[in-house]
Amino acid sequence: MNTNNSTPRPLVGISACLLGENVRYNGGHQRDRYICDTLANFVDFLPVCPEVGTGMGIPREPVRLVGDLDNPRLVGRESGEDWSERMDSWSAKKLDALTEEPICAFIFKAKSPSSGMRQVKVYPPEGGQPRYNGVGFFAARFMQRFPMLPVEDDGRLHDAVIRENFISRLFTFNRWLELLSGPQTVGALVDFHTRHKLLLMSHNVEAYRRLGKLVAHAKEQPLEDAIAQYGEELFSAMQLKATPKKHSNVLQHVMGYFKRQLTPDEKQECVEIIDAYRNGLVPLIVPVTLLNHYVRKYDNEYLQQQVYMHPHPLELKLRNQV
Ligand code: SF4
Repeated sequence: MNTNNSTPRPLVGISACLLGENVRYNGGHQRDRYICDTLANFVDFLPVCPEVGTGMGIPREPVRLVGDLDNPRLVGRESGEDWSERMDSWSAKKLDALTEEPICAFIFKAKSPSSGMRQVKVYPPEGGQPRYNGVGFFAARFMQRFPMLPVEDDGRLHDAVIRENFISRLFTFNRWLELLSGPQTVGALVDFHTRHKLLLMSHNVEAYRRLGKLVAHAKEQPLEDAIAQYGEELFSAMQLKATPKKHSNVLQHVMGYFKRQLTPDEKQECVEIIDAYRNGLVPLIVPVTLLNHYVRKYDNEYLQQQVYMHPHPLELKLRNQV
């Protein structure tokens, strides 16, 4: 069972140049093959170019960040023309417009003075060497407005673990938006939590327990507050990476559901495959596929509904790397 089948395709905001749009200062683009050729088959994109949006034109003088790390100015590299006020006011309008869109995540162009989400160069006003830990002018405002939203940049997405984590969060956010758009009841929250238990456990066991208690006591506070608190804690918990050690614990937990049905040989095979995964000898997809076989064979209803067993489309091959 693919838990994503009934949910609408996620909508992902993205720096427009990553889609191959010719919006860079030099009239070029930064098309990303994985994003355009693979991820695009499973999500819809909403492209954003803050520099073009602000009216800088194509081609244009490149800009850079200058001044305080926390509140730098955005200025022309040669002319010193200050674009800060204009991009600030465009960003405020754009972010208002984005609150109306069901976006589930944002992919930023790494290191851009407007769109980079981390390690962007910030130059001292008096000249000299830049510091490398700034945040792009638009990206900073975006992340302040949407603190729960999964964000990554194209550079970090080349790391298999970061990519898998980001895409899991993105699809989870999409299901979360679906919950928010339907009738909000304690039952709907309980159902959402139940389906996400193992996924949550693979990121953060303490949060899994905390959120379990929150859901169990949801009736004791206004439902709106319980849902808001749940969402905040869930997406903050999922920022912690799901590591091989955490995945192995979840896989053993899954195996426990079959302790009466599996023969000693089958149990031994599961243990060996989980160990091989933990030791980096086989990818995560191997133990998950074996366990999914038993989920189907023994028709385990609880595990069938676990998002963890199918967190994103198989075709993305996110669990295929050691
Ligand atoms: S990095 Fe951002 S501002 Fe620069 S071209 Fe790409 S989308 Fe536009």
